[in-house]
Order: sequence, then structure tokens, then C-alpha cells
Amino acid sequence: MAVPQRKTNKARKRKRRAHDAIRPVSHTHCSRCNSLTLPHSICDNCGTYRGRTLLAVEDF
Ligand SMILES: [Zn+2]
Repeated sequence: MAVPQRKTNKARKRKRRAHDAIRPVSHTHCSRCNSLTLPHSICDNCGTYRGRTLLAVEDF
């Protein structure tokens, strides 16, 4: 079994884990229906992206 040659010290471990924080999922509001959408993606509610209707969505 592979064994590390030396113990990882606290500073090294903490520096590595400095980038491990989980960030909240970012979101934007649709410019047409104002519902929450993921950035750079078509709105699930009304099917538009940047003012253009790209998906036919029933019951808008
Ligand atoms: Zn929308």
C-alpha cells in the first residue's frame, strides 16, 4: 500500500482546504416573468433567453 513519505502539516492542510468552501448556487431573475433562473440559461417558466422566445412553454 502506498504510504505518504511525510505527515501533512496543519498549515499545508488548511491552505489546501481554503478553496474547499461550497458556494451557494447563483441565480438571476428572468427579464420577462421575473422568476428565478440559472444564469446564461433559458427560463424554465416562460422559455425565453435575452428577450427571445426559444422554447414553447404551455400555460405561461
Ligand atoms: Zn421567464
